[in-house]
Amino acid sequence: MFCRNCGNEMNENAAVCIKCGFARGTGNSYCPNCGKETGPNAAFCVNCGCALTSISANERPRHEPQLASVDEGNIGWGVLGFFIPIVGLILFIVWHDSKPKSAKLAGKGALISFVIGIALYILLIILAVVLAV
Ligand SMILES: [Zn+2]
Ligand SMILES: [Zn+2]
Repeated sequence: MFCRNCGNEMNENAAVCIKCGFARGTGNSYCPNCGKETGPNAAFCVNCGCALTSISANERPRHEPQLASVDEGNIGWGVLGFFIPIVGLILFIVWHDSKPKSAKLAGKGALISFVIGIALYILLIILAVVLAV
């Protein structure tokens, strides 16, 4: 292969160019495949057609939005939150940022459970008062 910076022919296993000291794949002046001079913004070598994307650009970690596909908002979390409100509440807090849909369902389940619990409690008090009178 050839140095992307100076066009010097490099050893296939060399990490840096022995002529200019640039790291393998860095620079944008020469084709790594045939050694022909290339334009600084060229995506492909006009001589051999090889792709000229620099190694550093390819190795950059990609930030793919995975949350949307992972978080389907499973209704099961709502059911879980309903039967075990404290778990639903914890899930709601923990997942608030990473899994907003599931967090909302778990939180809703917990909330419904709380509301029904309070309603039953009030109903029992009313019943007790009515029966006492
Ligand atoms: Zn070089
Ligand atoms: Zn080339």
